[in-house]
Amino acid sequence: MLEDKNPQRTSLAELGEFGLINHITKYFSISHKSTLKGVGDDAAVLDASTKQTVISTDLLIEGVHFDLSYMPLKHLGYKAVMVNLSDIYAMNATAEQITVSLAVSNRFPLEAIEELYAGIQLACETYHIDLIGGDTTSSTKGMLLSITAIGKANKEDLVFRDGAKPTDLIVVTGDFGAAYLGLQVLEREKQVFKVNPQNQPDLENYTYLIERQLKPEARKDIADLLKELDVKPTSMIDVSDGISSELFHICTQSKVGCKIYEDKLPLDPQVINACEEFELDSTTIALSGGEDYELLFTVPIDAYDKIKGNPNLSIIGHITEQNQGLQLITRGGQEIELRAQGWNALKES
Ligand code: ADP
Ligand code: MG
Repeated sequence: MLEDKNPQRTSLAELGEFGLINHITKYFSISHKSTLKGVGDDAAVLDASTKQTVISTDLLIEGVHFDLSYMPLKHLGYKAVMVNLSDIYAMNATAEQITVSLAVSNRFPLEAIEELYAGIQLACETYHIDLIGGDTTSSTKGMLLSITAIGKANKEDLVFRDGAKPTDLIVVTGDFGAAYLGLQVLEREKQVFKVNPQNQPDLENYTYLIERQLKPEARKDIADLLKELDVKPTSMIDVSDGISSELFHICTQSKVGCKIYEDKLPLDPQVINACEEFELDSTTIALSGGEDYELLFTVPIDAYDKIKGNPNLSIIGHITEQNQGLQLITRGGQEIELRAQGWNALKES
C-alpha cells in the first residue's frame, strides 16, 4: 500500500560505521553561532551564553512507537524531530540543536537510512536546527531512534508545569484528535491491504487526519505569538498524550483543579466526520487521542481580551481550587470527572 518499493539496496555492512556516519551527516550544515563544534569530534561544543539551557530527549522503538508498514521513513525522521522540538517549545524556549542516535538491524539498507535522514534534515531546515552529533549502532531486531533537542531561553521567559493558579484561563493551540484518527485510518488500510493487496485505498476524506499522524508540526510560532500579544503563560505543556492527561500533569504539579467545557474543544470537521464513521465519541478522542503536538497553557484571567478571537488559540476552560478536581462540563451542562487515560506508553495494550 504505502510501502516504498525502492529497488536499490546498499548494505550497511558495505559502508561500515564511519562510512555511514559520514554519509548521513554530510548534507547537514551548522547555522547557530551557539554551535561551536558539531559532528566529527568526540563531543559537540556549545557556547553556553547567558541564557538558560533547555534539554529534552525521546526514544522511539519500532513496533512500539511507529510501524514502518505505513510510516514512510522520511516522515518518521521528521516526526521524531517534531516530538522533541515540541517539548522545547512547551518550555517557551527556542530550539537550536539536536543529536540523533540510531540503532538498526541489517534488514535496513543504506537507502532506508538516507530516507530517514532526509526527513530529519527537512525538519532541521524548516525549524532552523543544527544536527550536532549522535551515535550509530546495530540492533538485533528493528530500528530504535533517540533524539535529544537542546534549546535556550531567557530565565524570565521559561514556563513550567507548576505555575497555574485558580481563575487562570486554560488555552490550547490548534485542534485535537486528528492524529489519533489518522492512525486508525492507516491501521484500517493496513488490514484491508493484508486481505487484498490490489485494493487502492481512497484516503481523500482523511487527508488532514493522515497528515497530522504522519507529518505533525511543532508549535514554534507560539512563543513569538505570546510575546506579540504580551502574554506570559503561568504554566505550559505540549499535548502529546491528549488534553486530559496533560491537564492532569498541570493540575497535579500546580496543586489546582480545572473545569473545561466540551463545547469549547476545537475539532476539525474531518475529525467530526471520522468519529461518526468509526462510531467514536469526538470528545473522548479530543481528550485522550494523543500525538497532537499542540500546546496547552494557562494565562491570568485579565489576558482574556488578548487571547479571545485569535485564530490560533482556543480558551477551553479555567483553573479552579484543587479540591474541585478535574471537571468536564458537557454540552448538556453535566459535570463529569476528567480521567487522565491518555496514551500511557507503559500501559498494557
Ligand atoms: P564515538 O566513537 O566517539 O562515540 P562516533 O564514531 O560514534 O564517535 O561518532 C563520530 C561523530 O559522528 C560524533 O561527532 C558523533 O556525534 C557523530 N554521529 C555518530 N552517529 C551519528 C548519527 N546517527 N547522527 C548524527 N551524528 C552522528
Ligand atoms: Mg559513538
